[in-house]
Amino acid sequence: MENIKSFTTQRIPAKGYAVSSKTGRFEPFSFNRHPIGDQDIFIEILYAGVCHSDIHSVRSEWQEGIYPMVPGHEIAGRVVGVGKNVSKFKVGDYAGVGCMVNSCGECEACKKSQEQFCERGQCVLTYNCIDCFHDNEPTYGGYSNNIVVSEKFAIKVPQSAPIEKIAPLLCAGITTYSPIKFSKIKKGDRIGVAGFGGLGSMAVKYGVHLGAEVSVFARNDKKKKEALDMGVKNFYSSLENIKERFDFIISTIPTHYNIDDYLKLLKYGGEMAIVGLPPTDVNPLISASELVWTAGRKVYGSLIGGIQETQEMLDFSIKHGIYPEIEIIRADEIDKAYENLTTGKAKFRYVIDMSTLY
Ligand code: NDP
Ligand code: ZN
Repeated sequence: MENIKSFTTQRIPAKGYAVSSKTGRFEPFSFNRHPIGDQDIFIEILYAGVCHSDIHSVRSEWQEGIYPMVPGHEIAGRVVGVGKNVSKFKVGDYAGVGCMVNSCGECEACKKSQEQFCERGQCVLTYNCIDCFHDNEPTYGGYSNNIVVSEKFAIKVPQSAPIEKIAPLLCAGITTYSPIKFSKIKKGDRIGVAGFGGLGSMAVKYGVHLGAEVSVFARNDKKKKEALDMGVKNFYSSLENIKERFDFIISTIPTHYNIDDYLKLLKYGGEMAIVGLPPTDVNPLISASELVWTAGRKVYGSLIGGIQETQEMLDFSIKHGIYPEIEIIRADEIDKAYENLTTGKAKFRYVIDMSTLY
């Protein structure tokens, strides 16, 4: 960017792929980003991961979406412009953006860098959200060529990092790292990972790295070899006759399932973290009596992770070479990727190469 000052009051033209309804297909879509504020950075997006949350959002599976919708909250790119008060980034740096682009910054949660729980309800999601800090305009995500974001919500990525593998860490990475840390997983713990896709595979990698004995719960044997190659001890394609008992189970399942089936597999004192977010109409419930009969086990939900923890996760992952398994796709292959992710044909993470945008 040659002269960023000339852009600061202007809206930034952007192009990407959007759906115009919950049954629509992706079409080219041009729009404008808000102007680059004094503390904003302007990022040229190089890669964007495809998260199952994108599919739930596009299809209005949790609530009615805001259309046209440009999904994408696993964003990795290069800084091409900075506002005048930016101190964390300079032009040419790599930067990442995850699920959030702003929050009040003043409440107790924000002060603890748990921006996803902003007590004023001002956590602005990267897409499919109303941006109360910018005239209540809708936010548009990373399936696009650029994004303007406060430096406070951008994650620093070293120049030496494999940038195409960084994008999925911004959601799949932090969403699994955070509960694994919250539950204090350590060497020798028996942990189970339910759902072995984009998030599940990251949970496996963090668990194996920490020296835990990791098992996978899937619904078929298709990815057994990949699991064993990642260091998984036991691969279960059915929940029947499992003798093991676990210290920790993380569920990344995006469809209907029975939570009680997993509760029974916990040891006394064991913990289950739920991160998978099935569609509202098939949302599994926990039975109160089952909780009593399996007393002494704890179940909790976990929602991405704060900005500080996201930076910590990224630094940790790079330091230890923990990266997602990715398949790079062209921007015109998103519909196909969604189909594969919902029909059991996908392996782990699709990442869109933004240089293939029209
Ligand atoms: P993926 O589609 O990449 O992976 C889901 C995996 O779960 C697939 O391997 C799928 O297998 C498997 N699966 C589906 N149903 C079952 C079942 N009944 N039993 C066992 N395995 C099953 O999705 P992601 O990893 O991207 O996302 C997973 C979920 O996490 C989504 O609901 C997403 O919205 C949510 N999420 C939550 C976040 C949070 O902050 N809490 C953040 C990000 C995502 P198959 O190949 O057979 O279909
Ligand atoms: Zn996600």
